[in-house]
Amino acid sequence: MATLRIAIVGGGAAGFFAAVTAKARRPDAEVIVYEKNSKPLAKVAITGGGRCNLTNSFEQVDDLKQVYPRGDRLMRRLLHHFDHRDCWAWFEQRGVPLVTQDDECVFPQSQDAMSIVGCLLAEARRFGVQIVVSCRVESLTPLTDGRLRLGFQNGRPEEFDRVAVTTGGSPRGDGLRWLAALGHEIVPPVPSLFTFNIADRQLTELMGTVVEVAISIPGTKFRAFGPLLITHWGMSGPAVLKLSSHAARHLSELAYKAQVAVNWVGKLSRREVETVLQSFVLANPHKQTGTWNPYGLPSRLWHYLLQRGGLATGKRWSEVGKKGLNRLVETLGNDVYAVDGRGTYKEEFVTCGGIALSGVDSNTLESKVVRHLYFAGEVLDIDAVTGGFNLQAAWTTGFVVGRHIVD
Ligand SMILES: Cc1cc2nc3c(=O)[nH]c(=O)nc-3n(C[C@H](O)[C@H](O)[C@H](O)COP(=O)(O)OP(=O)(O)OC[C@H]3O[C@@H](n4cnc5c(N)ncnc54)[C@H](O)[C@@H]3O)c2cc1C
Repeated sequence: MATLRIAIVGGGAAGFFAAVTAKARRPDAEVIVYEKNSKPLAKVAITGGGRCNLTNSFEQVDDLKQVYPRGDRLMRRLLHHFDHRDCWAWFEQRGVPLVTQDDECVFPQSQDAMSIVGCLLAEARRFGVQIVVSCRVESLTPLTDGRLRLGFQNGRPEEFDRVAVTTGGSPRGDGLRWLAALGHEIVPPVPSLFTFNIADRQLTELMGTVVEVAISIPGTKFRAFGPLLITHWGMSGPAVLKLSSHAARHLSELAYKAQVAVNWVGKLSRREVETVLQSFVLANPHKQTGTWNPYGLPSRLWHYLLQRGGLATGKRWSEVGKKGLNRLVETLGNDVYAVDGRGTYKEEFVTCGGIALSGVDSNTLESKVVRHLYFAGEVLDIDAVTGGFNLQAAWTTGFVVGRHIVD
């Protein structure tokens, strides 16, 4: 019987996982990973600030839509085959102990992404996966006998029985053109996971301040909860990144010029903010507005918010009056800022968009357009908020492809 020839295009997280899974299942198959860069797994090496947040405990996830704004339904189905527990066991069984942080993010105990890179390279070596670096795949042609011909930037074309495309995100879309040419629908790619530029000197002077907030885009359903970090360029932190992820396409359409409303007192509603403030004022009429705040906000932020609400910090609470209190309630619960562009978060971003999920079989991730062609990882229209969910998607989809590509 002729040897089954499999090409994996892209030597990243999903590609390596697919290659190793396929070879473990069919040791007689020839599995070759083609990587355009001189080193494979270069992105994994820099994930999580060099520590690699490789998955999440999912303890605080009630609904996958919260963490996978795109692809939640497919992920729900595929996680049955390889979830965060499988990921944990996979790496630990291969000598990489893991730890779960208080925020439920999972890292290697070594706190070094190279432990993950080293483990994947060692597994590829152990199973005899061939790795060809500095080799960019530029085209794919389906042949009449069911095989697929790959064209390279340099070098002669080669034929394969099966091909998996694991080329990762492509925020400008250039890496998706050759796949679109085959007839795949591409969901237009836009960046996700970014911070907000806000041109308000008084706000940015509070840089370094962290507060638990609710942040939303007025007139839309987009909102997020969590810590907000004031930076020298505007706003960052988990709440902002989450909002940027859920509203990635909406904000791109607005050219990143939009309004955001901050509720500085987290999950309290306007009514609750009002009630707390009124009872506080009744109990503390002689205290000064600047020295006492009932929400435990950092004092610099509190002074800034009083000023935004038009209240002097030296006033007594009894002198503030109903109008003043109303203004303060509005500022605390619905403080609107103009976003003027986006920034990066520790150079970390993912692509929202990619190969439309309607074009792939939801059990095998085989293309519905080209037989024997599979997709895994960020090249698919699946992406997540921060916290290890993006790499989990790469492991899960890589595993599913590795399993089915040899069937
Ligand atoms: C700085 C940074 C930090 C991150 N940190 C985290 C984190 O801690 N946790 C987390 O869950 N997610 C993190 N992410 C997101 C995560 O890294 C990605 O979602 C994940 O790597 C996607 O895996 P992938 O295999 O699909 O793509 P990639 O890892 O990007 O791999 C794709 C590979 O394909 C190669 N390639 C592309 N086109 C071709 C071609 N035509 N021919 C040959 N090769 C090609 C690329 O060079 C690349 O090596 C981070 C992202 C960045 C940018």
